Amino acid sequence: AISEIGSSQRTREIIKKYGIHAKKGFGQNFLTDLNVLTGIVDAAQITKQDNVIEIGSGLGALTEQLAKSAGEVVALEIDTDLLPLLADVLSPYKNVKVINQDVLKANLPKLIQEEFTDPSRPVKVVANLPYYITSPILMNLLNSSVQWAAICVMMQKEVAERLTAKVGTKQYGALTLAIEYSMTAQLAFGVSRHSFVPAPNVDSAIVVLTPRTTALTEQPFDQAKLFSLIKTCFAHRRKNLWNNLKPLMRKNKTKQQAVKDALDHLQIASTDRPETLSLLQFIQLANGLHEKQI
Ligand code: SAM
Repeated sequence: AISEIGSSQRTREIIKKYGIHAKKGFGQNFLTDLNVLTGIVDAAQITKQDNVIEIGSGLGALTEQLAKSAGEVVALEIDTDLLPLLADVLSPYKNVKVINQDVLKANLPKLIQEEFTDPSRPVKVVANLPYYITSPILMNLLNSSVQWAAICVMMQKEVAERLTAKVGTKQYGALTLAIEYSMTAQLAFGVSRHSFVPAPNVDSAIVVLTPRTTALTEQPFDQAKLFSLIKTCFAHRRKNLWNNLKPLMRKNKTKQQAVKDALDHLQIASTDRPETLSLLQFIQLANGLHEKQI
């Protein structure tokens, strides 16, 4: 019997047979640890009812494990050189399609409609992400208008810590809040750099995002204004709120008083640092400033 793609022996054979040189520019670090591969599939709770989109098929190690558990798998791979190899090694799996596509340029709702036999099934994203574009990929997924049943992705450990950070910690910031806006983030498990070929310079972790089950607030608010305020408040992490908010006041006395009033009303000290505010407090502050035409 042929061993699984993610075993170190088979990975070595594939690399040799197809003359593969991992491309740094595409963030190619291939998983060669079957426990990690099956751990990812378990963390995503993949069932035969699920449609799965994989980002970056690589040598197909994760794609194969997904094919075994999922209904259908559509894997996006930017590197044209890997396509013949993927067609070969994944040929036993009839529920897999590999598409030569840059995930950052993909029209995901359209792709789901066109590529899955039954697009109405839950869609999950599962990936060992190319680390150099982790945040843009996550933002693309969250801004795509698709209702993801889950997003289960491996990334650099430090980024995983930012995604799952609690308010008041050093890791908490704009990225944490962007995720928390629509999803609940959970750290599944950590992965050593030695589980990859070639080994990256960083350790990794798997994060599972699931849709929020409760509304953030009953109050109406403007999403664009909220994220613009968050960006302003975290522009200089080591500055306090007042100093970060200065660009909104431009030394205008009336505006300064308005910002002061809005903060006072919410019992937020102007000397507090941005990482001490919860998402709900940012919403309230955005609304408070908007009421005062700021
Ligand atoms: N899934 C494989 C594994 O776990 O061994 C490969 C993971 S490797 C970290 C990331 C993969 O994403 C590479 O195969 C790379 O070519 C691909 N990739 C990089 N940028 C991409 C993009 N913009 N769109 C789609 N795939 C991309």
